[in-house]
Amino acid sequence: MAGVRRLVASRKQQVGIMTPFQHPSFDGHERICFFSESKSGLRAIIAIHDTTLGPALGGCRMWAYADGGDPLDDVLRLSRGMTYKNALAGLPLGGGKAVIVADPATDKSPALFEAFGRAVDSLGGRYITGEDVGVSDADMEVVARRTAHVRGIRATGLGDPSPFTAWGVFCAMRAAVRYRWGKPSLEGLTVGVQGLGHVGSRLAALVRADGARLIVGDIDAAKVEAARRRLDAVIVAADTVHAADIDVFAPCALGSGLNESTIPEIRAAIVCGAANNQLRTPADGLALAARGILYAPDYLVNAGGVIAIAPDRPGIDADAMKNRVARIGDTLTAVLRRAEAEGASPEQVADRLAEERIAAGRDALLRSA
Ligand code: NAD
Repeated sequence: MAGVRRLVASRKQQVGIMTPFQHPSFDGHERICFFSESKSGLRAIIAIHDTTLGPALGGCRMWAYADGGDPLDDVLRLSRGMTYKNALAGLPLGGGKAVIVADPATDKSPALFEAFGRAVDSLGGRYITGEDVGVSDADMEVVARRTAHVRGIRATGLGDPSPFTAWGVFCAMRAAVRYRWGKPSLEGLTVGVQGLGHVGSRLAALVRADGARLIVGDIDAAKVEAARRRLDAVIVAADTVHAADIDVFAPCALGSGLNESTIPEIRAAIVCGAANNQLRTPADGLALAARGILYAPDYLVNAGGVIAIAPDRPGIDADAMKNRVARIGDTLTAVLRRAEAEGASPEQVADRLAEERIAAGRDALLRSA
């Protein structure tokens, strides 16, 4: 028997198979669940990173990963990010995330989203889902036929979280501009928005209304054309927005856009955008700081959506929620001040604040046990 086990182990080494626990992005996640259903075509992973502060809330991403991307890496990193985001936002929620491995342009069907709803439901409320890249609030309405553990739909509150995410990023951008240049608005600045989806398009409109010029890029030609027409935006290639002559760079597409090849090309003084996991590695945060670029931590500034969908209550006042989300700007200012005083990077300070809140929650749980 021991010989067989050794054989299996050495065979795995030969073919390079690793378990999820050995994955570089595994961070002591509480649960990693794989779902596969041939009838509906569902292939999904749900990762629950940490539930110390409450059930794990985080959206569901639909992506084909045809470009060699790794869905397990994505869900592990995104779910960990949600733990930090929810803690820093002061929410009674832990962090989790889901990915459906499929092409949102061609593979959507009611059967697929209902199957995903059953998958979410099987976790008994430990994971609460919502929309993310590739998934709309209409898709989530279908998921909600099979599980009550859905947020960001009309039945549970304010509906689509994207306007609140965009509003939070905009408030953070204004706070960063005020911190850097003492300016009360974005008037006269040039902002580059990469990715004009649910969040990026709304952020672009807010930025333009505040008096900034826009440079935009997206892999979807129709979206950039709409921004050119409606917002007088200048269009550049999707993968060159970061290198444009801009004051503020707002990454609003997918993650890992700030890395060793893009950072040396950035001309902006501030990076503040909605995309999750913008830094490919922690070293990239230090590289931005070394270049004197103010980086507004992604999970701090893009928390508007999760703040808006967290209360499970229909009929919440949208204006009151906007005021609550606007406080993201104050949190960012506090983080930037502390980072400057301590000689740390903003994401190091944000991480520490989130970890302190999780540790306090863990202590409270232990005391009440
Ligand atoms: P979305 O799918 O609506 O939009 C993403 C956009 O990025 C699309 O227009 C797509 O064409 C574009 N895109 C994809 N790859 C690109 C590339 N290489 N270069 C340029 N553009 C590219 O998604 P969304 O809801 O707007 O979310 C955008 C980002 O913000 C994601 O990283 C998401 O995780 C994050 N986020 C979203 C919310 C929310 O409320 N929707 C909340 C927090 C964080």
